[in-house]
Amino acid sequence: MNYIIFDLEWNQCSKGPEFENPRLPFEIIEIGAVKLNNAFEVVDEFSSIVKPRIYKHLHNHIRQMLNYDETLLKTGKPFDMVCREFMKWCDTDYIFGTWGTSDLIQLQKNMDYYYMNKFAEPFKYYDIQSIFAEYYPDLGACKLQKAVEAMDLPTEEAFHSAINDARYTAQIFQHLSKKNLHDQYSYDCYHEPKDKDSEIFSFHRAYSEHITRGFDQRSELMADKEITSQRCYKCKRRLSKKIKWFSYGQNSFLSVGRCWYHGYQKGIIKIKISNTGKFFAIKKTIPITKSEVEDIRSRQIALREKRREKRKSR
Ligand SMILES: [Zn+2]
Repeated sequence: MNYIIFDLEWNQCSKGPEFENPRLPFEIIEIGAVKLNNAFEVVDEFSSIVKPRIYKHLHNHIRQMLNYDETLLKTGKPFDMVCREFMKWCDTDYIFGTWGTSDLIQLQKNMDYYYMNKFAEPFKYYDIQSIFAEYYPDLGACKLQKAVEAMDLPTEEAFHSAINDARYTAQIFQHLSKKNLHDQYSYDCYHEPKDKDSEIFSFHRAYSEHITRGFDQRSELMADKEITSQRCYKCKRRLSKKIKWFSYGQNSFLSVGRCWYHGYQKGIIKIKISNTGKFFAIKKTIPITKSEVEDIRSRQIALREKRREKRKSR
């Protein structure tokens, strides 16, 4: 199996958000990728400029970042052609790797715009930014350039060109591959699981994850027993409830449970809205310490207080 480490550059409406195309706020203008074999060696590269169709002028902010301008974009090929070439170049046996989650989202949004999306369901990929953050917790989910500098990699090529950024990301991935990456994958959730049978349950060293199917109503989600029940991230035994689910923010819920064997664990539910307008949840179960349990409890109490104050002032 190959690793396809890719990066995109995209443009947005230069006249401001009120003039943007609601179907495609961000238009891809460059795809760059590095193919690594299963020994993490570079075997090929892909680089292509996309001739924009919707936003022909660069947004100021984008112009300042990029190392090229409209003159080069005019020499590019249409997105659907570039994308088809890219997918063909990826071949069939591969897993994507990207810096963060947004490149896969924008790739699929652009594919959707041209009615060419072939990824119908969640799929595994490597979010190299979040793997990096695990090994460099002081930097966290930082910018690519910061990570490259932190790893002391040579920085001769300019950042913010898709092929250069893909090369940098691939180099970071090569370094991280010396650690155990087998369970470090994430799921891309641009499309939610279609039905109950295709819901995703994945178990990792440091957490477990459940991605649900879509529901018509938000309220159906938190009424579903399977979604609100909690199982140990390690042994899958049912956790005894310590703190019931409470909402913090409109789409997020927290809870705490305990496994007799594996200790305290927090549950995090994030409700997402899919492309088709359905509500689905990403639930994570993560081990925590006793003091984190107390932090969560104080958070719950503070939120409750705040709500009470709000009600009083109405
Ligand atoms: Zn357990």
